[in-house]
Amino acid sequence: MKPVLFNFTDAQLLEFITNMGQPKFRARQIRDWLNRGAPNFESMKNLPITLRHDLDLVAETLPVHVVKKLESSDGQTTKFLLELGDGEQIECVLMRTSYGNSVCVSSQAGCAMGCKFCASTLLGLKRNLTVNEIYSQILVAQWELRNDMTSPRPIRPNGDANNGDVSHIVVMGTGEPLQNVDNVIGFIERANSDMGIGWRKITVSTCGIVPGIQQLTSWGRPINLAISLHAPTDELRSRIMPINNKYHLNDVLNAAFEFSELHNRQLMIEYILLAVPGENGDPELLNCTSEHAEKLSDLLRGKNCMVNLIPWNTVNERDFISPSGNAVHRFQDILIKNGIHTRIRRERGNDIGSACGQLRLNNAKG
Ligand code: SF4
Repeated sequence: MKPVLFNFTDAQLLEFITNMGQPKFRARQIRDWLNRGAPNFESMKNLPITLRHDLDLVAETLPVHVVKKLESSDGQTTKFLLELGDGEQIECVLMRTSYGNSVCVSSQAGCAMGCKFCASTLLGLKRNLTVNEIYSQILVAQWELRNDMTSPRPIRPNGDANNGDVSHIVVMGTGEPLQNVDNVIGFIERANSDMGIGWRKITVSTCGIVPGIQQLTSWGRPINLAISLHAPTDELRSRIMPINNKYHLNDVLNAAFEFSELHNRQLMIEYILLAVPGENGDPELLNCTSEHAEKLSDLLRGKNCMVNLIPWNTVNERDFISPSGNAVHRFQDILIKNGIHTRIRRERGNDIGSACGQLRLNNAKG
């Protein structure tokens, strides 16, 4: 395997470049390109062509490279299938929104959590990602945004211009971040210090690993926390999220509210609305009846939180179906009546398989 220059320290990069008979300043030029996310040496335009060619023979730029890139039909969402040095694949998604450019990154190759509605877990967990492998996903997005500047996209819905920078990060792609918590923390520290992304613009989403939430609390940075809840009772949650057998609903919520209260942050609650085919073929609501809405309200009443309702996004290998629009609004209305902040999350990039893990799974099947 060729060495990955992004993984080198400055001293190692300098040694590598001077050993190739190059002057020292070339190492600084190359570092600059790497920090901008240059995907290959060819794009490092201020290096001599012969050096670019020589580097290409002996080294890689980043620890990830783009295998596939899909664009949503509205031009605002780009999904990347990325390959790591050992051939494992992960996904990351760039969303150009009215509030900025948000990147959803993966923290593991695959996932061991076994959530019944998720494609990412179907091939099991392969391994944790390193800090550099997580960080490089933002660089891929950053490079893409720079390309946007030269070939402008359609105007965004509210007319905002693209300022060319990643502004928000969500650790919500493939994998359970808090099973790889040390590297996720290392990544966030770096995104904050090297890319200047504010703590409050970074969100970590977990299915509810209580010790990991507690570690985030001790770490003490005021990032946002999102809990994938998806059911208002232990019985139902354990059926669709096996992790609930280990960390029960109330323990997860207690740990999460402790985190959000410490930082005076609103806790994000993710809630996928699921239905299953009923006997006569009509959707039978699994977790989003009126009774579920009342139970969810009982759990969250008076708490500083926002419930993101996410109508099910089809994953072919899973048997769920989307509830009707009426059912979604009825569920939301009950939460609102009970004083719970809630919104229906706008689905982004549906036409490019934006459900977590779908692209990776499809590619593995060939
Ligand atoms: S939803 Fe998240 S935690 Fe659950 S299996 Fe998918 S990637 Fe893993």
